[in-house]
Amino acid sequence: RTFQELNLPKYLLDAIFEMGFERPSAIQEEALPRILANPPRNVIGQAQSGSGKTAAFVIGMLYRIEIDSPATPQALCVTPTRELAVQIVNKTVKPMAAHMDGLKIQLALAGERMERGEKCEAHLIVGTPGKVVDWIKRRTINTKNMKVFVLDEADEMVAEGGHRANSLLVKKAMPKTCQSLLFSATFPPEVVEFATKMVSNPDKILI
Ligand code: AMP
Repeated sequence: RTFQELNLPKYLLDAIFEMGFERPSAIQEEALPRILANPPRNVIGQAQSGSGKTAAFVIGMLYRIEIDSPATPQALCVTPTRELAVQIVNKTVKPMAAHMDGLKIQLALAGERMERGEKCEAHLIVGTPGKVVDWIKRRTINTKNMKVFVLDEADEMVAEGGHRANSLLVKKAMPKTCQSLLFSATFPPEVVEFATKMVSNPDKILI
C-alpha cells in the first residue's frame, strides 16, 4: 500500500511527503481506510507510541475540516498530559497542515486563557479532558459542528482517575454524527469497558 492509494487530497499528500513519510506504517495502513471512509467509521486502535498512530488520527482530523465553514471547532483531540498535547500540535498537526492556509489550532490546557464570553474559533483543538470540559461548560467551545473526536492514550486516561469522568463528559457533548477515534497501547478490561462507552460500533484495529 502507498499513501497515493488512500485517496488523500493533494494538500495532505504533499505534507505527508514533505514530512519524509514514504509509506504508511502498519497502523496507518489498517486505520486510514476506515478513518477516511464515507460515511466515517469509528475506530478503536491498539497502537504503541512509535507506531505512527498520531499521524493517522491527525490526517483524519485534517481530512474532515472544512476550512471555510462557520467559526466553530470541527475536530478535537484529548490527551492525558499537556506535554503530549503540545507535542501532537507541534510535531504532527502543524507540519501536516502546512498546506491548509488559515487553519486555526487551539490548545486547551490549564493556564490557557480565554476571556469570559469569548468563543473558541479554532478549527481544531488539542487538550486535556479537564480543560476541554471546563470550556464546554462555559460555552467557550461550541461542539455543534464537531466532526472528529480523538481520544489518545486511553489506558493513561483510565489510570489517572480524573480524566476518565471528564473524557466521558467530553464524549457526551459531541454530536451524534461525530466520528470517534480511540487509541491505546494496552486493553486491560477497564480500558475495554471505557472504550465501549467512548466509541459506538467501532472497527477494531490490532497491530
Ligand atoms: P507516533 O507513534 O505517532 O508517536 O509516531 C512515531 C514517529 O513516527 C513520529 O516521529 C512520526 O513522525 C513518525 N512517522 C509516523 N508515520 C510515519 C510514516 N508513515 N513513515 C515514517 N515515519 C513516520
